Amino acid sequence: MTIDIEAIRAFSDNYIWAMHDGRHCVLVDPGEAPDALDFLKRNNLRLAGFLLTHHHADHIGGVDEIRTHRPAPAWGPPDSRMPDRVSPVREGDRVEIPELGLAFSVIETPGHTRSHIAFHGHELLFCGDTLFSAGCGRLFEGTPTQMQRSIDKLADLPEPTRVYCAHEYTADNCRFAVQVEPDNEALQARCDDVAELRRNDRITLPSTIGDEKAFNPFMRTRRPAVAHAARQREPDCGQTPEAVFGVIRRWKDAA
Ligand code: ZN
Ligand code: FE
Repeated sequence: MTIDIEAIRAFSDNYIWAMHDGRHCVLVDPGEAPDALDFLKRNNLRLAGFLLTHHHADHIGGVDEIRTHRPAPAWGPPDSRMPDRVSPVREGDRVEIPELGLAFSVIETPGHTRSHIAFHGHELLFCGDTLFSAGCGRLFEGTPTQMQRSIDKLADLPEPTRVYCAHEYTADNCRFAVQVEPDNEALQARCDDVAELRRNDRITLPSTIGDEKAFNPFMRTRRPAVAHAARQREPDCGQTPEAVFGVIRRWKDAA
């Protein structure tokens, strides 16, 4: 059985990932309902469930409306800000979707929000706003140390793991990343590819964990070149990966 993963575009730069086998479908982070409902109808798919990474409206805003038309179970972090009737899942829990023959394990990735989670299985990673291609989420509710640990967990996944993040931020992230690592050839190549894709209004995702380790500065805080760039920016920052991470994140926030 083959599983297709298609992007449903939402808002200006969100992707709702639709994972399906031609009969059943799982929706990841549906921030709005109309296009997701249309996708299910057009492709004649039954909704098997929702995977939800965090409570922000652009990730959960469509859940209630979709469910009034297509009742289905939902899994997400234990957080009172989540919609009603979301089964809370924690680090190491498994989410089973028997209709699609899929199972995902839950990875807690605090930093962007304090209860953010990611779903991993079948060499697929749905990581919401924790890891972006060539970037990472803003630290709304967490510290650089927390986010560094979260990103470290994702970096430990097998390198072929495909990374499905929730936003099309790659071109902007590439522009920033070259300031951090101007001599990184893998990054240069990624920037060129992304520029070409975006010129044609194409999606830059998924990438892979192996790719991200080669060019994402937030996955490279132990690399001398990245630590060096951080020290240039904040000379007293210290050398721990967490400190370097904090500098790079503040730098990106100000960029
Ligand atoms: Zn978010
Ligand atoms: Fe978001």
